[in-house]
Formats: sequence, C-alpha cells, structure tokens
Amino acid sequence: MGGFSAVLGQTGAGAILQSALESGRIAHAYLFAGPRGVGKGLTAEVFARALNCAAHEDRPCDRCLPCQKALNGNHPDILWLKPAGSSFKIEQVRELQRTVHAKVYEGRHKVIVLEDSHKATTQAANSLLKTLEEPPGSTVFILLSENPQTLPPTILSRCQRVNFAPLDNRLISEVLRQRQLGRAEDRELAVSLAGGSLGRAIEYMQDQKVFVLRQRAIEFIQACLGKNYYRRYKITESLEKDKLDVALFFEHMLLLLRDVYLGRNGQGQGRAGIPEALEQTGLDAESIGLALQVVLDGVELQRKQANTKLLLDVIGCRLARLA
Ligand SMILES: [Zn+2]
Repeated sequence: MGGFSAVLGQTGAGAILQSALESGRIAHAYLFAGPRGVGKGLTAEVFARALNCAAHEDRPCDRCLPCQKALNGNHPDILWLKPAGSSFKIEQVRELQRTVHAKVYEGRHKVIVLEDSHKATTQAANSLLKTLEEPPGSTVFILLSENPQTLPPTILSRCQRVNFAPLDNRLISEVLRQRQLGRAEDRELAVSLAGGSLGRAIEYMQDQKVFVLRQRAIEFIQACLGKNYYRRYKITESLEKDKLDVALFFEHMLLLLRDVYLGRNGQGQGRAGIPEALEQTGLDAESIGLALQVVLDGVELQRKQANTKLLLDVIGCRLARLA
C-alpha cells in the first residue's frame, strides 16, 4: 500500500494534498506543522514523488522511473535540506537559490524540502523569504516544522499550512506490536511517554535508556521517601555520569507518582502500571498529590536550567519531609 495511506493516522493532511494533486492547484510553498515523529517527513516524501510521478492517475504510482529514483533518494529535482549544525545558514539558502533558478532536470516540479525549517538564522530566513516571494513556476517548497510559531510571519503567510496532529496511542501501540519491538509492558511505557509521536516511541524502544531512567526514577523516589540520603546521592551522581536525560527523568517521576496517585484514588492505574516498590509506600493520596507538586516545581526550575544536582537535592529533601 503506497501513497498517502502509508502515512499512519494523518488522513486529514493526506486528503488536502491528494486533492491539490487531483485539481492541479499546487501551492508554491507548504508548511507541514506538527510534533516530531508524526509523519511530516514521510508525507513530504510521498508528496514529492507524486508531484514528479509519470503516471496519469493514482500518483505516486511508485513504479515509474521518476518514482523509483525518488524512492532510491536520487531524483535530481527533489532536494532535501537539513540545518547545518544547529541552524540553516545564509550560505545554505544562497546555494538553494542557485538550485531553484537552475532548470528542472527531468521532473515536472522541483521540490525542495526544508527539514526543521524553524531553525533558520534571521539572515537565512530573510533570504529564504525572497525566494518564497518570487518562486520559479515549477518549484514547490515544503517546510517541515515542529515549532512553526518561531518562523517569521512573513514566511508563514507565504505557505499553505498543513497540520499534523499527535497520533493516537492505540495506533502507536499497534505499530510497535506489529514490528515486534520489545516486551509488551515496555511498549506500554514507551507509548505513554511518547506524547503521540510514533518516531519517539520507536526511538525509546530501540534505545533502552528510557527503561534505565524509569528504574532510576523508581529508586530515587524510594530513596527519598525512605530518607536514604546516600542512595539518593548515588542516583543523582549516576544521572550525570551516564549522561542521562534529566528532563525525561523528571517526566518518569511525574508518571510514576501520577500512577500511584490514581491507584490510591481507586481510579485504576496509568498505562505503564505501578511498580511494586512504589505501591508499598505508606503515603496517602494527599501526600502523593503534594509529592507531584514538588516534582512539578522541579520541572519548572529544570526548564530554567537550574543546577541539576542542587535541584535533585532540594526535591529529595522536600519528598523526604512528606514521608
Ligand atoms: Zn510514479
């Protein structure tokens, strides 16, 4: 099954682009807006193929020569640009302008996909705007962005926006199951942490660090509530030593406490389940609620780049007082 139906859970976006293809009313620039890992890139690939497909209907056919070239990543009229390092540089946009003004090699449209398009320096964005203002007839720009609000309004107004929503958790679960990635309980956890992003859920399953972090979060909460200062210190140290993602560590703590809270309130447990070690803590629902607030405060401070060790120390002390 090819075409836009290969992009899971984004029928709305697929329908907009399909109807543009059928009516022949193709915009000069599209903005694919939505979180990471929900199908923006895949949709851009399908759309780029469809724009250059030689078939008369049901484009992309994925069989003709242009489709084959595009699938192999060597169609001369489809260009895919990523930021050089942390941002798009002015030199990249200049290079792009030269490409745009060169003639179309063999396709019908020159398609230029800009990944992470919000990561453009002001100079590069201004230069890009000029190209978007006077695009050569056959060029189609596709800007991908998970942060479109940071793009200059002048660029936004040149683009037809196509929104990509977070995916349904059930859909993500099903894909992980079909791909036989990991154990069922790990998949549940990955889905609950992925925030509707299939890409992120797959990453979590492949890079097992997420499960290490969850275990550390369980041990950290236990150590705090058990007033085990040394254990707590060791966990804090290991986060730094193993270069683990502190933001994700906090997220784990929130999820764990939330699940225990829901359990105490008789609302069943969250998707990832309550680990036995935390199930046995003597805290009542109210104290768990307070513990959640302590961690939430921590998340806020962590976003403001507070010193991690100090922050975990403060959280540790505050949690210990609840026990
Ligand atoms: Zn084709």
